[in-house]
Parts: sequence; structure tokens; C-alpha cells
Amino acid sequence: MSTIQQQIQLLREELNNHNYNYYGLDNASISDYDFDIKLKELEKLETENPQYFDANSPTQRVGGEITKNFETVTHKNRMYSLDNSYSKEDLLDWEKRIQKKLGSDDIEYTCELKYDGASINLTFENGKFIKAVTRGDGFQGDDVTTNIRTIKSIPLLPKGDYVTDFEMRGEIILPLDGFHKMNEERVANGEEEYRNPRNTASGSLKLQDSAEVAKRPLDCLLYQVVTDERKYKTHYESLENARIVGFKVPKTIALAKSIDEVFDFVNLWDSKRNELPYETDGVVIKVNDLQQQEELGYTAKAPRWAIAYKFKAEQVSTVLHEITYQVGRTGAITPVANLEPVQLAGTTVKRASLHNADQIEKLDIRINDTVFVEKGGEIIPKIIVVDFTKRSADSELTIYAQNCPECETELIRTEGDAKHYCPNEFGCAPQITGRIQHYISRKAMDIDGLGGETVDLLRKEGLIQNYADLYDLQVEQVIPLERMAEKSAQNMVAGIEKSKEIPFEKVLFALGIRFVGETVAKKLVKHFKSIDNLMTADFETLISVDEIGDRIAQSIIDFSNDLGNIQLIDRLKSHGVQLEVSAESLENQTEKLEGNIFVVSGVFHQLTRNELKKAIEDNGGKVSSSISKKTNYIVAGDNMGPSKLAKAETLGVSIISEQDFIDMIS
Ligand code: AMP
Ligand code: ZN
Repeated sequence: MSTIQQQIQLLREELNNHNYNYYGLDNASISDYDFDIKLKELEKLETENPQYFDANSPTQRVGGEITKNFETVTHKNRMYSLDNSYSKEDLLDWEKRIQKKLGSDDIEYTCELKYDGASINLTFENGKFIKAVTRGDGFQGDDVTTNIRTIKSIPLLPKGDYVTDFEMRGEIILPLDGFHKMNEERVANGEEEYRNPRNTASGSLKLQDSAEVAKRPLDCLLYQVVTDERKYKTHYESLENARIVGFKVPKTIALAKSIDEVFDFVNLWDSKRNELPYETDGVVIKVNDLQQQEELGYTAKAPRWAIAYKFKAEQVSTVLHEITYQVGRTGAITPVANLEPVQLAGTTVKRASLHNADQIEKLDIRINDTVFVEKGGEIIPKIIVVDFTKRSADSELTIYAQNCPECETELIRTEGDAKHYCPNEFGCAPQITGRIQHYISRKAMDIDGLGGETVDLLRKEGLIQNYADLYDLQVEQVIPLERMAEKSAQNMVAGIEKSKEIPFEKVLFALGIRFVGETVAKKLVKHFKSIDNLMTADFETLISVDEIGDRIAQSIIDFSNDLGNIQLIDRLKSHGVQLEVSAESLENQTEKLEGNIFVVSGVFHQLTRNELKKAIEDNGGKVSSSISKKTNYIVAGDNMGPSKLAKAETLGVSIISEQDFIDMIS
């Protein structure tokens, strides 16, 4: 082994150890700063010596790889679902069934919490992490390996004595702390909050940009090992040892000698579940002895040796004092129930969403009604039903707001839309503030030194009415504002100035045209290249663009026909905001690869993977993550996987080298 290789290996081991201590044991053994220094050192060595590339290196955990289409993979072992039970009687029935089938009443159980997230199957070969696949329909799921690799509490190279070829099953979850932090950031950016941790966790697995996934505080809780190696006799033992080698197996798991002890576990966590750092919706009870598990086997959809016990959602009753209406950035109105504060699932509930007018009608909810509130899967509690027995005789039917609570404008509701809207786009405070907050947010213009609250303050002070006004702000105007020091005023103005460098695709997203999200903005920019081309395009031209439908097209046309918007865009232009693709990036764009689909695989020398992918797209080609009949070329680098190679050969896809590719576009 060369010294360089040794050096690389030592660094990887050291960093893996620190990761394990930090994420697995919750016990940091190095400062963040020193960790970063070492990681950079390793990164440098790896870039200089690409022949030692290893997908499981700690450097690979920051993400960066983009997956456009997740490859469908058949599970080696089916991922079953679980039978549910809702009462102690159900559990006793289950016990009877399995006792009969086993011909024994000597059965021990493990009790685990039912972690509420997205299930994942991690494959390890030779003690190394190979791939991660979602449950999908149980027979096949999506390959989300690049995203899962960024979750640092998953050991890519479990250390110590364990089985070597196995599948580890677990749940990808978003701990409550992290979830709330993500939402705080979204609010600060003027974005809508995520509804609940579970959907956010499972949505994260399918993000295209693994660097985005790396930023999310996801975690993976493990609950089952599947292997042919008969190293352990019991399920409990296999999990306890999994924890020792670095997997996050919650300490809450417990053994129960009888169903009575199972009841104790259920009762304990039913009352203490609000104290957990993550959400749980029940308990999973499993037969502990692996031999017995095998004897019991499976029904058509679930193991006979396990059962889930679902906690009842907590409900309380309280009184509705008032219905208020909130106005969002796009003018959408959300009715909110203001309740007599009440304790529910560990938090004080004062408000509940009523969604829209239909919901209010369906519930027939009225002021002073007593209502039942439930904490379901969502963070914001729901009103389940009105207690009509407590309704007073003089109660009055709720009439939905007719005017905007902020600006008095008459609300509108278009057919097929569940929500009412305030059409006063340019005169309604929350819409004005919301649009500017969206404009400055991280994924849009990413303006440093300016936050959501300051935007609101600046608007109240009459200094800004729209995002173009930002560029007229002077340091002297800002300093006198509350909580504003000279330094922060300077930073703010400098941050705004710097946003003139933000590329057109982000600017287009920042404009906040309804239905034009990040991805749509990218598509439009690629096709139209400038705001002028986009704003003068007619309906037919717009819908001819890949993935642009009627709804988006109409919204762009409405935006472009509005005089106020035309003036705004003119002002942005005169301030030097990027409203077209820069000459420099246009220069490198051709149609040479038009109509060709590429798959990129392996390690490259002249270009990074991302540069390579960008070059494909810049020249009119498409990048796909998986090989199919439609693939035209595979750009193969070093260490391309043998399975990919075989697939390419069977499908007759042309395999080209990095140099071939460069020749193609030059
Ligand atoms: P269901 O989706 O209701 O069929 O329940 C089955 C799912 O529960 C599995 O796919 C797992 O993702 C999830 N689950 C959560 N915690 C556990 C656990 N401790 N043991 C087994 N499955 C669990
Ligand atoms: Zn309004």
C-alpha cells in the first residue's frame, strides 16, 4: 500500500470514528472545526488521487450528487407491512393464535416503539454499506442510496463483530427538534411551514439534490436485521449487537416475558410518548426467538410473528372563541379557529386550522361551540367534530369572511379552488411583505443581512412596497429604524447589492409568479433565456415547453400582462438584476446533444461529475440516473459498477469515455 493510500485510509477511519462517537454515542470526540479541517484534508487527497475513490468515504456524506430519476430496485427479501391492533383484546387474540401455531406458550416478546417516518432497507455486503432502497410496494422500491449516505448516524462501515452480509431495516425520521428548526427557518424565509415530520422525512428521501438532504437533520432508527447468517438466536440480541457496532437502535426497546409485560410497556409509552424526541404512533411487538419467528412465517401481507399496537390519538374538548382569517403571500386565505387554551399531547393548543370554507360548512362550526380537538399526524391540531349537545340555542351559522381581514378587499373564489383569495396583490400588507420575504429567501435571491421581520418593518415604515424598492434603499434611511445599527444597515444594503449577481433562474423563482417554483423556473430559463422572451411568449409557445401545463402558462401570461409587473421588471433591469442568462453561460451552450439521454457513472479525471452533467445539459442533452432502453450514451469513468456495465451491454447502449464525450461537444 502506498503512503498516500495509507494516509487516506487513516483519515477515513479517524473521521468515521468521530462520526460514530458524535452521532451514534452522542459524545463528540473532536471539535467541529478540527473535524472540518481533517475532512478538507481528506477531500484534497481524494481529489488528487481519484484512483482511491470510495463511495463510503466520510467525504461522500456532504452530498452533491443529483438524482433525477430514482431507479426501481426489487427487494431481495420482501418488506412486509404489519398487522394492526387497537386494544388489549386484539393483543390477547394474537397471542392465542401464535401459541396455537407454535404448540407452546413459552414465548418471549420484544417491545419496540413504532417510529413514525419512512421505511428504508439498507444493504451491507462484506460489512460495507452498498445501497438503500425505500419500501415502495414491499416488492420493489426506489434506490435512494446517494441521499441516505448523507445521514451521518448510519454507519457505512459498521465496526466490530457483526454479521457481514445483511439487510438492516429501519425508519428514516425527522426528530421534533430538527423539524421545528427547519420550520423556523422557513417562516423566516417567508415560506410555508412543513406540516408534519413524517411527510417531511419521507419527502426528503426523494429530493434530487443530495446536498439538500445532507442539510436536513434526518436520523435513522433501526429495527430489524435480515441475514442468512445464524449468528444470533433472538431478535433482541441482533438489535443490541447492531447498536454496539454503530447502528442507532433506540434504547427504548425492551424484552417482555409475557403479554402482561407487553401491556406494561404499552401503558408506559402511551403516557410518556410526548417526552420522546421523535414521534411515535404505537408499539411493535415481536416474537423474540428467531427460530419461532421462522416457524410462524408470514401471511399474504405481514409477518405472523409481529403486530403493531396503535395508540389512540389524543382528543380533548374545548371552546371556540373566534374564527380569524390569515392571508398568505399569494393572497390565499386560511381560516383559523381561536380556542380556549387546552393541554393536548404535551403542548398547549390555542389555535387550529379550519382549512377552507368547505371545511367550516362540513363541520357546521359556530362561535361558542364546544369542539373536539385531536392531535393527528400533523403538528397543527385538527377540529374533529362539534359537540352539538353543548350548543346553545341562540348560536348563529358561521358566515365565511367576505372581505380581506387586512385590506378589506372583497375576496374571490374561482371555481375548482378550495380557497378564497384576496385579489389586492399590490395593496394588501401580508401579500406585499410575503412576496418580498420570498424574494430575499435562501433559495431565491439569498440576501444576507435582511430577515423576514425587517422586511415587515421596512414596509411599515413606508420604505419598501415591492422587491424593486429594495435596490433604492440607502444606509442612512435604514439606520434610524428600531434595532438597526450602522453595521447591520451596511450589511443589509451590501447584501442587496450582491444579489445582483444571482443567476436568472433564481431571480425568476424569486419573482414569485404563482406556480413557478424552483424546477419550473429552471425549465423556463433554459428554454426562453431571458425575461423578455418569457413575458412576450404566447400561450401556445409556453405549453409547448417540456412540463409546462395550462395552469402554469396562464399564470405567466397573467403576470406578464400586468402593468405593475412590467414596471417592476423594468426597474429590476435598470438596477442590474440578472434577467437573462449570462453571456458567459450562453457561450457554452449548444444544441449538439439535443435529443440524447446520458447516464454518467464512475470517477472522472478532467471534469467533476457535476461539471460533466452540466456540460451535458448545457449542450442540449438530458442526464438520467438509471440505464434504460431510452439511454443513448453512458459516459463511463473509472470504477463504473459491474452491474451497470452489464445492463448497458444487454441494452446495447453506447459506452463512451470522458475523452470521447469532450470530443463530442468540442
Ligand atoms: P404499516 O406501514 O402500518 O404497515 O406498518 C409497517 C411499518 O412500520 C414498517 O414498514 C416500518 O416502516 C414501520 N415501523 C416503525 N417502527 C417499527 C418497528 N419498531 N418495527 C417494525 N416496523 C416498524
Ligand atoms: Zn387583502
